[in-house]
Amino acid sequence: MRTIDDINFKGKKALIRVDFNVPLNEKYEITDDTRIKAAVPTIKKILDDGGSAILMSHLGRPKGGPEEKFSLKHLVKELSDRFGKEVKFASDCVGSEAESKAAELKEGEILLLENLRFHNEETKGDEAFAKKLSVLGDIYVNDAFGTAHRAHASTSIVAQFFEEKVSGYVMSAELENAEKVLNNPERPFTAIMGGAKISDKILIIEKLLDKVDNLIIGGGMSYTFSKAKGGKIGNSLLEEDKMDLSLELVEKAKAKGVNLILPLDTVEADDFSNDANKKVVKSGEIDDNWEGLDIGPDTIKLFAETVAKSKTVLWNGPMGVFEFPAFAVGTEGIAEAVVQATENGGFSLIGGGDSASAINNLGYGDKVSYVSTGGGALLEYMEGKELPGVKALEN
Ligand code: AMP
Repeated sequence: MRTIDDINFKGKKALIRVDFNVPLNEKYEITDDTRIKAAVPTIKKILDDGGSAILMSHLGRPKGGPEEKFSLKHLVKELSDRFGKEVKFASDCVGSEAESKAAELKEGEILLLENLRFHNEETKGDEAFAKKLSVLGDIYVNDAFGTAHRAHASTSIVAQFFEEKVSGYVMSAELENAEKVLNNPERPFTAIMGGAKISDKILIIEKLLDKVDNLIIGGGMSYTFSKAKGGKIGNSLLEEDKMDLSLELVEKAKAKGVNLILPLDTVEADDFSNDANKKVVKSGEIDDNWEGLDIGPDTIKLFAETVAKSKTVLWNGPMGVFEFPAFAVGTEGIAEAVVQATENGGFSLIGGGDSASAINNLGYGDKVSYVSTGGGALLEYMEGKELPGVKALEN
C-alpha cells in the first residue's frame, strides 16, 4: 500500500477522508478533539508540499438529510485556529458549490465538506455518489481508520476513481501497530479483554488464543464464565447462550498453553448506579439481587502483576462500569499497570472505544505506546478480516 510519504502534493488537490466524528456539546463545542489532532500531520504534510486539502468526514448518525447538530460547520473555527488560516466550507459534500470551491482552492488552502452522511448514498456505498465526490480532488487519501471496516462511498468505493490513492499517517500507524502486536510481539504477550459482551469479542479472543501468553478477561463478560463454572452471579451481566462457549474457551486456552486469567473477586452493588451500596465478594459468590460492577482488589493485583511484567500488551474493554466513578477503580488499576508495562520497556496498544477513553481521561494517553482511534475497525482487523477501506487502497 502506498502512503502519503510516497507522493509530492505540489500543485495537487488531495481529497482526504478524515475521521472528524467528534463529540459536540449542546453549544456545538468540541468536547474531545483527539480525532482532529490525529489528522493534523497528514493535512500538514500535504499543505507543506504545496498542495491543497479537501476534507470529508461523517459526524454522528444523521437520518439521511441535513441536521444542524450533525453539521461539520461547527468544526470550521477549531480547524481555522489550529491551522492558523481560514478553512473554507462547502454546505454540501457534492454538487456545484463543493465543485467550485474545490476548483478555486489554492496552494496551502483547506476546504471542509459538509457531513457525508447527509446523503444516504454514503453508507450504502453508492457508486454514482462516490464518483461525484471523486471529481473534487486529484489524489485520494484515506486517513479514517475508524471507518475502514465499512464499505462506504467515501471510505472505499471512491478509491476506484483515482489513479493515485494513498493512506494517511493515522491509517498507516494504526495498521503498523496492529501488525506489530499480531505478527511480531515481544513476549510475554498479554491481552486484556473487558467490556460488556463475549459475543462482540469472541472472534478476537479465539484469534488471540493462538498468539498470546496471557489472556485476561474482566468486565461484564467475565460473569458468564463465572456462572458457567457453577458460580453465583446474582443480577450481573449474563449471556446465557454463551456459557458453553466460555467453558470451551477455557479448555482451548489450556490446550494451547495460554494462561487464561479470570477475576478472583468482584465489587458487587445493590443497584446499577454510582451511589449503590457496594461490597467486595469472591468471584462466583455474588449475593442474590446484587450485581458485579467492577473487579475487586485481589483481581486488580493479580491482573496488574501480569500486565506490568509483559513486553507486549493489548487492551480492549473496561474492567467494570467505569462510567460510574465508584466502579472505575478496576479499569484505572489496569490502566496504571499498562503504563507500568510501557515504562518497563514494553509495547502497549490500547484498542479504541472505551479503553481509549479510559486511558485518555486518566491523562495516560502519552504514557502508553499507541492508542487506537478505531474500536470496531481494529477488532475486525485483528480478527483477520479484510477491511474495505484498506483493500481499496491496495488495488
Ligand atoms: P464494550 O463496548 O463491549 O467494550 O463494553 C463497554 C461497556 O461495558 C461499558 O459501557 C461498561 O459500562 C460496560 N461494562 C463493563 N463491565 C460491566 C459490568 N460488570 N456490568 C455491566 N456493564 C459493564
